[in-house]
Amino acid sequence: MGGKLFIVMYHYIRDLIHSRYPEIKGLDVRLFRQQLEFFKENFTVVSMEQVIEAVKGKAVLPDQALLLTFDDGYMDHYTYALPLLEEFGFQGAFFISGKVLETHSLLDVNKIHYILASTDIQSLVSDLKEKMDDYRGREYDYPSTAQLWNEYAVDGRYDGKETVFCKRMLQTVLPEPLRAQISSDLFKKYVGITEEKLAYELYMTPEQLKTMQRHGMYIGIHGYDHYWLGNLTTEQMKEDISKALEIMDGFIDRTEWVMNYPYGSYNRDVLDFVQKQGAIVGLTTEVRLADLDEDPALCLPRFDCNDFPPKSKKYMRQ
Ligand SMILES: [Zn+2]
Repeated sequence: MGGKLFIVMYHYIRDLIHSRYPEIKGLDVRLFRQQLEFFKENFTVVSMEQVIEAVKGKAVLPDQALLLTFDDGYMDHYTYALPLLEEFGFQGAFFISGKVLETHSLLDVNKIHYILASTDIQSLVSDLKEKMDDYRGREYDYPSTAQLWNEYAVDGRYDGKETVFCKRMLQTVLPEPLRAQISSDLFKKYVGITEEKLAYELYMTPEQLKTMQRHGMYIGIHGYDHYWLGNLTTEQMKEDISKALEIMDGFIDRTEWVMNYPYGSYNRDVLDFVQKQGAIVGLTTEVRLADLDEDPALCLPRFDCNDFPPKSKKYMRQ
């Protein structure tokens, strides 16, 4: 009786052509407005509270129900999304990693985006491969570059295989302190701004997040360090989520909160743990329509904003 639900995922939303990094993979604010117009005409935008009621079996979602979700806590969301959401009378659900809120340091995921936006992919791939060969066997060991290339260089939905390879190496495949080190080296070489300055430009402050909440926006959990939770040891995974819950305590209801798995990565252990900690809804990056009567509430699939007009009509085919 819960109903079907289109969940839309956003990352960067900005005035791209006037921004410092126009190559960043984001949605231009003009297209965002057009997309909200399209949703107003064709869908019923619902709040997270309505979704939670439906998950509990206490309500049924309207036809063509659609939920808007925004990942990573970008300042973009405060500057561009909040005013437009208010104008349309829509709620957004916002997910920030605990570490960002606590330390205001730049996450690896964002270092990689800015490196990609600052150079051509061929130079980046050859630089990265060189560094991988350089560091191999010194303090860390990992498979040969050729073997990793064969395994991880595969085309993604919106990324070419070279980009996917760089992202995977620096997000999760290379051992932890090393991948942070290489990301920082490449960041320094290509981006032309310190990590600290970018972090302050990039993310919302706790006060801005509070303002979002006061304006009726929903705030949820997106891990602490923005790790691939499904690739961590159980102990590391529990520590990451526990730290996130602690930092985000003032923003969430500990008995009924929403988990948004960074990179959509989770496993059975992650699901068991978040459930025990009080999560009621979980958001993945599997791309399709959610069905609250069929899908486990802790594994709801989402579409990308690029799957809807004015970018495309892919949402109709999935
Ligand atoms: Zn994220």
